[in-house]
Amino acid sequence: MNNTLLKIKDLNVEIEGNKILRNLNLEINRGEVHAIMGPNGSGKSTLSKVIAGHPDYEVTSGDIQFNINGKMQDILELEASDRARDGIFLGFQYPIEVPGVTNIMFMHEAFNALCEHQGAEIMSETEFRDYVKSKLPILEMSENFLDRAVNEGFSGGEKKKNEILQMLLLNPRLALLDETDSGLDIDALKTVAKGVNTLKSKYNSIIRDH
Ligand code: ADP
Ligand code: MG
Repeated sequence: MNNTLLKIKDLNVEIEGNKILRNLNLEINRGEVHAIMGPNGSGKSTLSKVIAGHPDYEVTSGDIQFNINGKMQDILELEASDRARDGIFLGFQYPIEVPGVTNIMFMHEAFNALCEHQGAEIMSETEFRDYVKSKLPILEMSENFLDRAVNEGFSGGEKKKNEILQMLLLNPRLALLDETDSGLDIDALKTVAKGVNTLKSKYNSIIRDH
């Protein structure tokens, strides 16, 4: 089995005519955790967003290959939603609020879309709620977060915990975590770290930005 998960070759990225990434090379195997370091503005968030397929960034040359079903495939032509279904998860530095959509509805949709794409059985509402409830203790979240609108009125720490909850539910092959730690107090920091550690296995890889 091919152990390479992600291979970035000579990647050049621009946004609004400014070159942000120059000739970047990066190879990640399954089960590895990589920390990307660099000063503010050096392009760490850009890298995560480009891998996830954010449409604002222009890849002027180079390529990104991702292991899909055991084969390295060029993903630059894939939409962000397709990359997500193939197992790439992007955690945001500033998670957005989605008024009118409950947290559990949102996660259930995402989860079932992923199951369908990957050929697994989808879950009913009840099954999914039980599944989510089994993960809540890891993040020290109470069930009422599931029935609130996505991130609406959540504190900074709660938003980050909620993102890690989404990540655990989706079990991505590659998690891109953009400043998951910033702005958290010591308790939230520990909880988020515990959540991230729960994902670690020989099948999941993580790129962290801090
Ligand atoms: P980091 O995460 O390492 O702090 P970023 O990837 O956020 O860095 O930013 C890299 C550079 O790209 C910065 O100079 C930033 O101003 C610029 N940049 C990022 N997004 C945009 C955008 N949407 N429009 C213009 N410039 C941007
Ligand atoms: Mg950043």
